Amino acid sequence: MAQLQQRRSQNIAGNVYVDSSCIDCDTCRWMTPEVFRREDGQSAVYHQPQTEAQKARSLQALLACPTASIGTVEKPQNIKAIHNTFPLLIAENVYHCGYHAESSFGAASYFIQHPDGNILVDSPRFTPPLVKQIEKMGGIRWLYLTHQDDIADHRKFQQHFGCDRILHEAEINAKTQDVEIKLSGTNPIKLTPELLIIPVPGHTKGHTVLLYQNKFLFTGDHLAWSDEKQQLIAFRRVCWYSWTALIQSTQKLQNYTFEWVLPGHGRRYHNDAATMQQELAKCIDWQKTV
Ligand code: SF4
Repeated sequence: MAQLQQRRSQNIAGNVYVDSSCIDCDTCRWMTPEVFRREDGQSAVYHQPQTEAQKARSLQALLACPTASIGTVEKPQNIKAIHNTFPLLIAENVYHCGYHAESSFGAASYFIQHPDGNILVDSPRFTPPLVKQIEKMGGIRWLYLTHQDDIADHRKFQQHFGCDRILHEAEINAKTQDVEIKLSGTNPIKLTPELLIIPVPGHTKGHTVLLYQNKFLFTGDHLAWSDEKQQLIAFRRVCWYSWTALIQSTQKLQNYTFEWVLPGHGRRYHNDAATMQQELAKCIDWQKTV
C-alpha cells in the first residue's frame, strides 16, 4: 500500500499520487502516460486523471506497480472491476498480464490464449485476482521464461497450474533448477507450428526470445523501443554477458518476420513487417556505436 505521508512532493495535488518507494521501473509511465511521468529519478503524477477512462487506466497502473507505490487519497470504489480488466488485451489473443513483480524490477509479462494451450511469457506476481482470471481463460500450459532475471513467481504458477516451464540451460540457477524443459544450444527451437524460440545470447548467455505467428516477438531484456530515442534499443549498461554477442543476436533477428516487439523492460513497438526490418537495421547500426 502506498503511504500518503510518503507522497512525493513532485506529484501534482489531487487524488492519485506516487510515494517515495517508487523504484523507477517505468511501468506506470508507459501504461498511463497521460497521468504519470518521471520527475527527479522517480515517477510522479503530473496530471490528475479526469475522465473515467483515465481514472481506470490510473488504477490499472496502480495494480501493475511492482512496489505498490501508487496510491489514491480516496478509496477507489471500483477496484474489483479494475482487477477484472486484467490481463489487458494487446492484440488478437495476446495480453499484458500486469501485476509486475519487484524481483523482476517490474518487467512486463504476457499471456497468449491459444486453443493448443495457453502460454505465460515471463512471470508476473502470483496474485489471486490474476490467477482467477487466468483460470477463467483456460489456465497455463507453458510458462516460457526469456531469461533468469524475469522469473518472479514461476514456481507458484507451476504448482498452481501444473504448467511446464521453459528456460535455456545457460540460465539455470538454484531458483530454476527444477524447470521442466531446459533448452540448449543456439539454434531456434519450434515449440509448435506457431511458436518459435530463438536463442539471442547477449544480455545473458542463455537469453531467448519467443516468436509467435511471425507477428509477435516477446523480447525479454534483449530488445525494446525507446520513446526518448524513437528507435529500437538494447540495454548496454545492463548487458551482463556480451555486447558483441547481443549485436550478433539482433542481426539474427533480421531473418525473421514480426510486427510487434513486446519487451520485459522498455516500451513495446508495433509496425508493419517492412518498417520493423528498417528499425532493426537502424538499431544494429546504433548498437555498434555504443
Ligand atoms: S510502476 Fe510503481 S515502481 Fe514503477 S515507475 Fe511507476 S510508481 Fe514507480
